[in-house]
Amino acid sequence: MNQEELFKRLVSHCKEYGYVFQSSEIYDGLSAVYDYGPYGVELKNNIKKYWWDSMVLLHEQVVGLDSAIFMHPTVWKASGHVDAFNDPLIDNKDSKKRYRADVLIEEHLEKIDNKIEKEIVKARKRFGETFDEPLFKETNPRVKKYNDQRQQLHERYQKAMELPDLKELRQIILDYEIVCPISGSRNWTEVRQFNLMFATEVGSTAESAMKVFLRPETAQGIYVNFLNVQKSGRMKIPFGIAQIGKAFRNEIVARQFIFRMREFEQMEMQFFVKPGEELKWFEYWKNIRMNWHQALGFGADMYRFHDHDKLAHYANAATDIEFRFPFGFKEVEGIHSRTDFDLKMHQEYSGRKIQYFDPDDNTSYTPYVIETSIGVDRMFLQIISASLKEEEAPTAEGGVAMRTVLKLPPALAPVKLAVFPLVRKDGLPAIARKIISDLKFDFYCQYDEKDSIGKRYRRHDAIGTPYCVTVDHQTPVDDTVTLRNRDTMVQERVKIAALKEIIADKVSVISLLK
Ligand code: ATP
Repeated sequence: MNQEELFKRLVSHCKEYGYVFQSSEIYDGLSAVYDYGPYGVELKNNIKKYWWDSMVLLHEQVVGLDSAIFMHPTVWKASGHVDAFNDPLIDNKDSKKRYRADVLIEEHLEKIDNKIEKEIVKARKRFGETFDEPLFKETNPRVKKYNDQRQQLHERYQKAMELPDLKELRQIILDYEIVCPISGSRNWTEVRQFNLMFATEVGSTAESAMKVFLRPETAQGIYVNFLNVQKSGRMKIPFGIAQIGKAFRNEIVARQFIFRMREFEQMEMQFFVKPGEELKWFEYWKNIRMNWHQALGFGADMYRFHDHDKLAHYANAATDIEFRFPFGFKEVEGIHSRTDFDLKMHQEYSGRKIQYFDPDDNTSYTPYVIETSIGVDRMFLQIISASLKEEEAPTAEGGVAMRTVLKLPPALAPVKLAVFPLVRKDGLPAIARKIISDLKFDFYCQYDEKDSIGKRYRRHDAIGTPYCVTVDHQTPVDDTVTLRNRDTMVQERVKIAALKEIIADKVSVISLLK
């Protein structure tokens, strides 16, 4: 299966097993909006708990907040979103498809990177152990040519984005002969700026109505509450405020399933520090966040940092944590050193003093901010795409058959334990129900008595249930059941009384946090 087919398979798996549905599907859907089904909502809640606990429980100096989606419209003027939260868009006149000009150019840069990488892989194979990569990069004529091309394009692109110069962005697309992936043509319109914020009105009459925005990020709710939280909690700098909530962006190009949505959820933490200490804390949070991702066990090679070339007007350092999705390495989380920009702007626009008095050295200052910002939905996609596997499995008859298994980290799996009576008689269902009622306060269990045991295993493999228990005719005799592990498919006979101890630790979020 190629990557595109794999991705299609993932989308249909999510629908078939109640993870993700297209919004308003019976009306043919609403573009880039999705609903989470019974298993989807469990996985989403587990992701949020994993994040929240790692931020708030494990960091004494991080506290939570739940600010409203609607905010005073001046918030978005002060933050710069009204004037500058734009994407440069361009249309292809033949396919009538709309693209982000910056994304088209970045994809072209990526293509050059891939060419360089291919040359390196080829050479490594040829030279074996004696291969000297830095020397090869410096001296190989083809790699040098690609590197020069990349650097030239990159410099032009960076400059055009900084200004921003929309004519130049279009010219770059023409000069580098970037084509529309659908029509294959270079018949492009002009580049235009497009503001991503959704607006609506608050108020009962047309005259008194006030235009408000649906927040495009949760961070501003934290900044405007900085003093409330600091004073009510008597917080001392450095400290952080964490928040999970919905955000809305009228994305131009909304493809790739839940990767880019118009309504999505963010988990953001703003960490307030003394000016001058921000880069130290930037490094600190970079490490913490990368460890959080890698604790899921998908492999360190699935992640990389991507430092920003073009810093936003408010940032003095920024990096993304990228994950290897079926469609390439893409951002899942941004870590930004946002200076004192936001608090200063809110101070200016509100006319209220937003400063921190430092009792240690009797000074007042506007704190600097390190932000960690991750999308719940992108994290969800990361987990599903790394977990969904097709593999050969032995059958009861001694042969092999393909099985579809969602190898979710047990701590994030929606159902932790499925309990099956071997048959629907002989008192076995009652024992199975009793096991569930004893364990349901510890983790999410499900009862299943339909179809053969083999089919029930397959169903729970596809859902991602890490453990299945079968109650058979030996159970009433000696209080034992078979416990089957999703990944190894090994079945062991264990005492019912031991189930909780065997499973609880492995399926608890605490196992990840440790
Ligand atoms: P991108 O470059 O992909 O548009 P961004 O740099 O605009 O993302 P941020 O503003 O840094 O994203 O938002 C922080 C996080 O929120 C992102 O890393 C991502 O996980 C998530 N996110 C942002 N936009 C969307 C979206 N439209 N749909 C789903 N998640 C999103």
